[in-house]
Amino acid sequence: MLEVKGIENGIVIDHINAGNGLKIFNLLFSETEQPVVLLMNVKSELLGRKDIIKIENTKEVDLNLLGLIDQNITVNVIENNQLKNKLKATIPRVIKGGIKCQNPRCITHTDDYAIPEFTLVKANGKLEYECSYCEEITVYKL
Ligand SMILES: [Zn+2]
Repeated sequence: MLEVKGIENGIVIDHINAGNGLKIFNLLFSETEQPVVLLMNVKSELLGRKDIIKIENTKEVDLNLLGLIDQNITVNVIENNQLKNKLKATIPRVIKGGIKCQNPRCITHTDDYAIPEFTLVKANGKLEYECSYCEEITVYKL
């Protein structure tokens, strides 16, 4: 078993489905200057295999962004070697910006002032969002 020491202050992102760790790492932490470890394919009773990310000197992480990638994720906030808070990734009901409307004729592609806004209409295996401008359904994928 690979030994990685615990962290004094920081966050542990746990129960990441094996394979998603790298995506999350690239999306959220590729430019951090804090010590960060990505553990891949750790044995898990719940998932079989899982990935874990530990990052020091950090208190917050975007739970919506995590939820878009993987809904099983739990986030442990560690302060002075103590578990301070346990959070769960959330699936965002509404997304502003960040994703693009799938409809090529949608006004959000041509009008800079039309910030795309989407509402979750289905979260069953994949996340489907409806554009508030043209009502086209956009399936969220990374
Ligand atoms: Zn649209």
